[in-house]
Amino acid sequence: AKLKGRAQICGYEPSMQTQLSWRLEMEQALRRALAEDRLSIAIQPQLDEHERVIGGEALMRWQHPRHGWVSPEVFIAIAEESDLIVELETWMLDRCCKLLARLPVESLPRLSVNISVRHFSQPGFVEGVTWVTGTHGIDPSRLVVELTESIMIDGLEDAVERMQALKRLGVHLALDDFGTGFSSLSYLKSLPLDELKIDRSFVSNLDTDGSDAAIVETVLAMAQHLGIDVVAEGVENRAQQEYLLARGCRLFQGYHFHRPMSVEAFEALLTGSEVE
Ligand code: C2E
Ligand code: CA
Ligand code: CA
Ligand code: CA
Repeated sequence: AKLKGRAQICGYEPSMQTQLSWRLEMEQALRRALAEDRLSIAIQPQLDEHERVIGGEALMRWQHPRHGWVSPEVFIAIAEESDLIVELETWMLDRCCKLLARLPVESLPRLSVNISVRHFSQPGFVEGVTWVTGTHGIDPSRLVVELTESIMIDGLEDAVERMQALKRLGVHLALDDFGTGFSSLSYLKSLPLDELKIDRSFVSNLDTDGSDAAIVETVLAMAQHLGIDVVAEGVENRAQQEYLLARGCRLFQGYHFHRPMSVEAFEALLTGSEVE
């Protein structure tokens, strides 16, 4: 019986063990990439109703020496299990503020960064943002911090307090992936938001799914009422763009306009669009 029990344990253990060691290996490789400055940034342009580029969203990129490009959905989740996410996003914030400092406000009004709930909830987060914007001498209102509904996981009050501290600094706040989390529309009036990003899952079904269309319409109407800007994410075709425009959406992001691109390509795009 003892042997059989051990065999069962052994039969069970390897997959868990493999998974765990894979994650550990990836985490170590990610730490190394950060230390050796091998992470990069892709920027996806954001456009206004006239299709002028008014900003961009910075997205992290990592090429593993052996496994190739790893999806941020995968490596961000691994980083979020420890304070590594704080280090990654601190690096990201520094790079983004540096870019904002290099480009005049006329060519790049704003840049958005994703901040994980773990980083957002850190005691020094607001101080860190104050420091990085100050060091690079940029107007904090050009920085948009994208948060998800998960920031309310430990209670609405704490999240609101922290958001207000960021607002006092001048930073703009966006609620990302809106509609996919656990929050409801009623939270919106309590949060000091500048912007709401409708998740692409709603946008992609606009033409085929009546209830998704109804949700998008409701969100747009509500945001207008509250004075919050709405960015439609994942706009992939003209029909979606027109639908959203007709219902008052003014900000767009998606493959229909531009895919995420290298920082160099993004700068070239900005320079090109300056030529009238
Ligand atoms: P997200 O914040 O929702 O970013 C938008 C994602 O949608 C990006 O995927 C982008 O490439 C993709 N996308 C944009 N337009 C379209 C479209 O028209 N169609 C489709 N199908 N997809 C589109 P990406 O770059 O793979 O990033 C995935 C996620 O990884 C991000 O989702 C974000 O949650 C996370 N992420 C990336 N960088 C960071 C970071 O620095 N910090 C944190 N916390 N998360 C990050
Ligand atoms: Ca985002
Ligand atoms: Ca999003
Ligand atoms: Ca997402």
